[in-house]
Order: sequence, then structure tokens, then C-alpha cells
Amino acid sequence: MAFSQLGLHPDLVRAVKTMGFEQPMPIQEKAIPLALQGVDVLGCAQTGSGKTAAFVLPILHQLRSQPRPGIRVLVLVPTRELAAQVIEVFRDFGRFTGVKTVMIIGGAGYHGQRQAIARGAQVVVATPGRLLDHLEQGAFRLDKIEHLVLDEADRMLDMGFMPSIRAIIHRVSKERQTMLFSATLSREIQQVAAFALKNPQRVDVAPPTATAEGISQVVYPVTQDQKADLLIAILKAIQMRSVLVFCRTRHGADRLARRLEGFSFSVGVLHASRTHSQRVHTMESFRQGHTQVLVATDIAARGIDVREISHVINFDVPRHPEDYVHRVGRTARAYRVGDAITLMEPMEQTFLSAIERFTNIVFPRAVLPNFPYKVKPRLEPPKPPSNQPSGRFGRRRYARSYSALFKR
Ligand code: AMP
Repeated sequence: MAFSQLGLHPDLVRAVKTMGFEQPMPIQEKAIPLALQGVDVLGCAQTGSGKTAAFVLPILHQLRSQPRPGIRVLVLVPTRELAAQVIEVFRDFGRFTGVKTVMIIGGAGYHGQRQAIARGAQVVVATPGRLLDHLEQGAFRLDKIEHLVLDEADRMLDMGFMPSIRAIIHRVSKERQTMLFSATLSREIQQVAAFALKNPQRVDVAPPTATAEGISQVVYPVTQDQKADLLIAILKAIQMRSVLVFCRTRHGADRLARRLEGFSFSVGVLHASRTHSQRVHTMESFRQGHTQVLVATDIAARGIDVREISHVINFDVPRHPEDYVHRVGRTARAYRVGDAITLMEPMEQTFLSAIERFTNIVFPRAVLPNFPYKVKPRLEPPKPPSNQPSGRFGRRRYARSYSALFKR
């Protein structure tokens, strides 16, 4: 299937070509024709699946086909970084359409955002808190919205945005098309969907762990007190271009970054306590390759789209299996090969087992040759109890062997 066969306006097909996209990704192939019919869409898809283009293209098609002034599109996203990425996708694909966009996020001035609306922006990409502030101040109205998108709804739910989102939806026109994207479809998400969507068509794409053959994943067992040393040794051993290191806490991320700086790596830190301009600066430096190692917490790193991330390293085992999927989804994005490494101390085995059950993968355990382990790591994953079902797909899949890592 080619982009030109999806029924999109020629201006959009041209923009897609300029972007160098050759063919639609599965979520795009499924969602775009549905969205073009104007029906509501409930999409179960991860970051990295191509979901942004899956809603941006059909929306732009509808704006382009029937030009009209006023705010016509609202996209709600959990973080400022994701807002910036979504806006960029609207601008890239919309370059031949004349559609105007505005980003409404916390940490930036109110005045400039109001002015952009007054100058005739048709597409608003917003984080819920700031948007609600504007609406409560009566800065503008959303009663002519034709398309509403809730992107990464599961994360917005986790971040406590649902009351704001409900308040926003009450102010949005009822005559609209709504699309909701979420990595998981929990009971809570289904409740949100029941509130926001009308007779939605469901579109599922398998999470990256089930499909992204490019990701090779491995676990290094190590005691807590040697984790940082092992990380440094791994960073020296691998040929890294740009490495994203995840930490569970802001404090841990800061501490680790300081430690790495002491070893002459160029390091950036991304977490929610950094100011907006610090985060933008850090991301830009990482994107341009000036920063080799970016240490981030889950929420801050959500939605990061750095095309050339070569490795994702979990300094802590994520406490929620979904976070693991999101984290490793940063690598092998759009089918690029990437490596995901998890450092696990013995106390974290329970969390890792939960991830293995969730992803249906038993990760190979590895040791770093010549690393002075104080305690010999245990390389055998614990056996699952025999009465346990063998996983979601009926069989256990084993991640690709990892020996390649140190040969490159
Ligand atoms: P997303 O899941 O929307 O964050 O997209 C993941 C990545 O895939 C982004 O870097 C996009 O630029 C890229 N991408 C999206 N659609 C395509 C496509 N059809 N072909 C190649 N790359 C794509």
C-alpha cells in the first residue's frame, strides 16, 4: 500500500514524499481510511508506531478539503515535549496546506499563546492544565472544534489530567470527530473512551515488544552498589552514538548524571524539575549529537523522538511493565535497530518478572567481561511456576542473543 492510495489530498501526499516516508506504517494504513470517513477512532498504539501521522494526516486532509477560519482541531497531550513533537508533525505535513498551528503549554507566556489564537490558528496542540487556564479566563472558545484528539491518554490518566480533560471536553463542540490513542486499554481508559467517543472504530497495533524485531534486549544482574560502575563500563564498551539512560527518580537521575560527567561523558538530564527552557536546550543538544548520554525519568522522556538513539539503558528496572515498553520503544523506532539494556539488582527481580510476563519475552542475562563483580551475577532467569499459562501469545519468545553488542 502506498500513501497515494489512502485517499489523502495531493498536498499531503507531496508533503509525505518530502519527508521521505515511503509507505504507511500499519497503524497509518488502518487508521487513516477510517479517520477520513469521519468516524471516531480508538487506537491502541505506542509511541514509535507512527500514530502521530495516523491522526495528523486525515485531520489535515479534512481541513484542506474544506478551508474555514477558526480553531478547528484540538490535540491534548500529556507533556510539553510531546506537544512540541506533535506540532512539528502538523507543520511538516501541513507545509503545503496553509494550516496554522499553536502550541499551548505550561511554562511559556500566556500572552503569546492568546495572540497566536487571535492571528487565526486552526490547530491547537495543548497540555490540559494550561489550556484549561485559558478557557477559564475566557481567552478563547472551543465550541467550533471539529476534531479532538486525546494522545497518550493512558499517560494523561496516570498524570492526573482526567478531571481537566473532562472539563475541557464539556467546552468542546459535540459535533466533532474524536480520536483517542493509548498504549494500553485499561478499564479506566475504556471509561474515558465511553465518555469522549461515539461508536468508535477500534484500531490495534501490537506493542513494540511483540513486533520490533530490531530491538535486542538484555539484562545485566548486578548489585546496587556496583550499578553506576557497571553502567560506566558498559558505556565505554559499546560503540554508542546517543544513549538514553532511564532512572526512576529525579534525584537518582541528577546523581547519576554528575557521576557520569566525572568520567568525561557529555551528559544531559531531563526530568520534571528542570525548567522548560532547560529541557528544550537539553533535547536540542541530544538531537544534534552534542550530548552523548541523556539521563531521564519516565515522565520527562515520554514521547521523545530522537531518530538515532542507539541504546536505551534502564538504570532501574521500571516498576510498571508498561513503562518498560515505553522506554525501549525509544530505540528501534520506526524499525531502526536499537539495543535495550536493563541493569537489575537482586531486589528488582520481581519487577523484571512482571515485565517478562507482560511482554512474553524472557530476556537473556549477561555479564560484562572483565568487570570486577564483587558478587558473581546469577545468569539463569528464575523458572516460572509450572501451572502458569505460557503467556499472552501462547508461547514464550526469547530475545535475540546479545553477544553482538560487544563486537560492534
Ligand atoms: P510516532 O509513533 O508517531 O511518534 O512516530 C514514530 C517515528 O516514526 C517518527 O520518527 C516518525 O517520523 C516516523 N514515521 C512515522 N510514519 C512513518 C512512515 N510511514 N515511514 C517512516 N517513518 C515514519
